[in-house]
Amino acid sequence: MLGPVGETEFDLRFYCFGVPVRVHPLFWLVSVFMGWGSGDAKSIITWVTCVFLSILVHEMGHAIAIRRYGFPSEIVLHGMGGYATSRGFTTWRNVWVSFAGPLAGFLFGGVVVVVELLILQYRRDWLANRDVWLFFEFLKFINFYWGLVNLLPVLPLDGGHIMQALMMKYWRKKPQQRVLEISIIASGGMAYWAYHSGERYVVILFILLCANSVVQYNELKNHRRW
Ligand SMILES: [Zn+2]
Repeated sequence: MLGPVGETEFDLRFYCFGVPVRVHPLFWLVSVFMGWGSGDAKSIITWVTCVFLSILVHEMGHAIAIRRYGFPSEIVLHGMGGYATSRGFTTWRNVWVSFAGPLAGFLFGGVVVVVELLILQYRRDWLANRDVWLFFEFLKFINFYWGLVNLLPVLPLDGGHIMQALMMKYWRKKPQQRVLEISIIASGGMAYWAYHSGERYVVILFILLCANSVVQYNELKNHRRW
């Protein structure tokens, strides 16, 4: 859905373990917007910090997998999350590169749980501080819940890319059409579920993803290219 995100003079640039990282200003804006309902300014800053850390870890997972295959990678964090640049790989390398992001998030989430358990054991009073407690809650939520949602077979989520790589290799009859059909059904189903669960951001996100797949599906059916 997202092409390369243009550079601006407000981009934050740094290196993370040798991988160049660029943070587009919209990343901060969208993160603040999403955390707006979490309470006071301190909670919003905690939320934005957790989103930043978690998405960086996720993209580092992709970038490390890409580098492992001998290609350079750059991480860009933007308004709709982030991406790590990659090249065309074979099917299983594609699957691994796509899965490495969520996997890094699950591992990070696991570390967060262990640290929280240690604090509960030895420094229980720290968690009495609402911001410390929120920090752990946000990190667990983003790394586990978003990580799982991201594995749904919906383009252009990581799960969608995994499904696409496998279908293109193993499904003989019109694989690209099947990929988009699965993406439409899964995103539509998720939007429906989220609507009934009252998760408004998830509803908006999956309606957009569903519409994106429908447009691609129509393009494919009409053999139009632009
Ligand atoms: Zn990813």
